[in-house]
Parts: sequence; C-alpha cells; structure tokens
Amino acid sequence: MPFPKTVNPSLCGYCLKPGRGFYLDYKNKYFAGCSVEHLEEIKLRLDRGLDLGICATSNPQAVEYAVKQSKSSYISNSLKNDSYKMHEWKAEDRLAFFNIFTAHYLTYESKIANEGTDGRD
Ligand SMILES: [Zn+2]
Repeated sequence: MPFPKTVNPSLCGYCLKPGRGFYLDYKNKYFAGCSVEHLEEIKLRLDRGLDLGICATSNPQAVEYAVKQSKSSYISNSLKNDSYKMHEWKAEDRLAFFNIFTAHYLTYESKIANEGTDGRD
C-alpha cells in the first residue's frame, strides 16, 4: 500500500525527536522516524507489543514563543475571515493557523533540545 500523503506523523516513534522524513508502514499504521536505525527500533518495539513508554508534557516557554511567532498568521486570518473570533473562521484557515503554531512550537522545542536552555530563551 502506498504511503498516504495525508498521514504525516512528525515525531520519531522511538525517541520522540522530530521526524526526518523516514516512515514505517507497520500493519497499515504509519510511524515517523528520525533515522533508519530508529525505524528498525520502532519495528522491534511493535513486534514485541511494547508501548512507547514515554509521556509528553507541554513547555510554557515554547507555547509563549509559538504565540508570538504565529501572531501575524492570526491577524491575517482574522482579516481574511472578517473576525478575530477563531471559531468564526473557515475550518481550513483554523487548521492552517494551528499548523503554523505547532510548527513554531516544535521548532522551539527542537532548538532547546539541541542546544539546551538557561530558561531565558
Ligand atoms: Zn528517533
């Protein structure tokens, strides 16, 4: 079965780093990977029936960063939809906004995961 273009997981199913364009089709479920080696680890984990075993939390600093970075998208979508009430926007515009917000959130998280943080980023 070809990989469906509408399915695009973004985090590695082994280490939760951002995916790097590697994907695994496992019994019609799709997993992202950061490397070929981690795709193999994902397959081993699934073959053994193990859960990922890692819980995620959100980072308030990353949320604040994403809010600031996506402000222009919020304003342009508000003007486009003649409303600052997001629930009055067209669904496709809401989805586009949250895609941008999430991309900024993950960009921030990726940066501090790579470089560390002193809490002032
Ligand atoms: Zn990984």
